[in-house]
Amino acid sequence: MSDNATPRPPIESGCPDGFQYMHPVMIKNFGNWAYHEDPQPGVLLHVAKSGDKIWTVRCGTQRILDLFTLRKLCDIADENADGYIRFTIRSNVEYMVDEEAKVEPLIKAITDAGFIVGGTRNSVAMISHTQGWLHCDIPGTDASGVVKSMMDELIGEFKEWNMPNRVHITTSCCQINCGGQGDIAINIQHTKPPRINHDLVANVCERPSVVARCPVAAIRPAMVNGKPSLEVDEKKCICCGACFPPCPPMQINDAEHSKLAVWIGGNHSNARSKPSFQKLVAAGIPNNPPRWPEATAIVKRILKVYKEDAKDWERINDWVDRIGWPRFFELTKLPFTKFHVDTWRGARASLNASTHIRF
Ligand code: SF4
Ligand code: SF4
Repeated sequence: MSDNATPRPPIESGCPDGFQYMHPVMIKNFGNWAYHEDPQPGVLLHVAKSGDKIWTVRCGTQRILDLFTLRKLCDIADENADGYIRFTIRSNVEYMVDEEAKVEPLIKAITDAGFIVGGTRNSVAMISHTQGWLHCDIPGTDASGVVKSMMDELIGEFKEWNMPNRVHITTSCCQINCGGQGDIAINIQHTKPPRINHDLVANVCERPSVVARCPVAAIRPAMVNGKPSLEVDEKKCICCGACFPPCPPMQINDAEHSKLAVWIGGNHSNARSKPSFQKLVAAGIPNNPPRWPEATAIVKRILKVYKEDAKDWERINDWVDRIGWPRFFELTKLPFTKFHVDTWRGARASLNASTHIRF
């Protein structure tokens, strides 16, 4: 084969190889772990078939990290954790050490620097969130700010093992895209159809794409003031906001009418149960920065009742399945309204149910 026929190797521009960042004990025992234990909140012990042991200490942060905080976290790794650090999918920081004697000095270094240790087993794990406020074009709230406010109030539940089982909370900053599915999810909820700036539509939006985006076929092309534009059938519109990303002149974010909603019971499938979809339990909550006290109070109320009433190892969806929804609303004293009953029949006639993605 001539040189010309040799295929050019691809330029690797994706994730770097993770092994170069892993603790040597983890590389040595990769795929050969015997069991793990939880010696104390925030600390995991993994034991390999070879007899090697590694302790992981999980550290919570304020979520949005500036460079100076990152340097401080890396200094802790250099001085107290064999020089290794990693981020979890919930943006905790984890340090790993290969001797038990290193665990307490590491925890002291973390807490002395103002961080917290916890988030393992039956605690409230770090809340995951979308970060649209920083980089996306359609957020209706600052989901990371909601997380910071809530975690400030739930810090005790992060540091202890008080819950019947682990609690994963998520927040998201728009209603349709990378929004969360969790034991408790705090999501944006638009309550008004988009307001159209007809002067801009013709210059900014590809109208067929916008029409195709609507899941309930509520958008039609229209001529307004002699210019090509769009119109929305407000009786059909479910205020999802899907038309806003491809057409910013269809403004749906609103300081007063974009609210927060709390959903519970979302869970991926696991060895024991099928996946469960989250269900709406509170809607129309004020989207109230900078501390979102109303949403936080509802989440705390749900957690308090779950903690008191659920049996050991019941996740929130297992608990509600056992006690039933009427009892859930009775115990949490959340108002049950007609909006909690899913009676929408429009899907049969108009729901755009194709899995094809259209741009
Ligand atoms: S949840 Fe919506 S607004 Fe937030 S980052 Fe994802 S797509 Fe953007
Ligand atoms: S995409 Fe959503 S918000 Fe836009 S018109 Fe359709 S239902 Fe209403």
